[in-house]
Amino acid sequence: MSFVEKWDELIDWDARAESEGQFFVDVLRARGKETVLDVATGTGFHSVRLTRSGFNVTSADGSATLLAKAFENGQKRGMILKTVQADWRWLNRDIQGKYDAIICLSNSFAHLHEGKDRRRALAEFYAALKHDGILIIDQRNYDAMFDHGFSSKHKYYYAVDKVTTEPEFIDEGFARFKYSFPDGSEYTLNMCPIRKNDMRRLLSEAGFERIRTYGHFQETYAEEDPDFFIHIAEKSSLHLVRWGGGTTAEGESDIREVGRELL
Ligand code: SAM
Repeated sequence: MSFVEKWDELIDWDARAESEGQFFVDVLRARGKETVLDVATGTGFHSVRLTRSGFNVTSADGSATLLAKAFENGQKRGMILKTVQADWRWLNRDIQGKYDAIICLSNSFAHLHEGKDRRRALAEFYAALKHDGILIIDQRNYDAMFDHGFSSKHKYYYAVDKVTTEPEFIDEGFARFKYSFPDGSEYTLNMCPIRKNDMRRLLSEAGFERIRTYGHFQETYAEEDPDFFIHIAEKSSLHLVRWGGGTTAEGESDIREVGRELL
């Protein structure tokens, strides 16, 4: 059995959904988003949840095996997921159209090891979004691991308390995590850790105008507390100005709205 199948078998989707709450649904609904591209579909947890909540979801992943698993998981729950095999670095070659939102969840971005691949992937995400689209991307709190040592609160995010996770090795450029399963089997995954502010910088260098970072779904948090950070990166902040209720006199046009038309 592959790591993924084993992991999927152990995750109780209902418990995970409960632990995650309505955060992603609320963020998307509050901004009026409808079309969502899940670029790290994996076994389909978020694709299924968001489809069930009424969003028009496209499920992408670089792995055909995982997409097949996601499709099967969708079918079991009475839905047909729209799947696309696509590598983030060439995303726009394989997907069609532009999306209101992209999600890249469960520390997936740490699978990219090269700085140039990270920049390229973010540029592709940016290009696949509509002008006022948002990217929701999460990451482990590597800052806390570097600065205070490792502690696993995995169960809060994934609702998995049967698997222990510990880094076999970690430094600022590379991390190898060991996953130990109840039947005694062990798997290792290599990741490329990134500090929260480095991720925020990469997002803004990719062109995102406004980035908000939540710690375990909360807007305020002590830096070392959350196991995960979630960044919400807005492609354009112009529409926010308009939502803010700015007024123009009759016959006048707001330069920011003109700018928006040109985007
Ligand atoms: N989001 C899923 C969940 O919450 O259950 C888990 C995703 S898993 C941690 C990471 C996913 O990213 C894997 O399915 C992997 O195939 C995908 N991935 C990693 N690098 C990729 C790349 N360069 N292009 C496309 N997909 C990639």
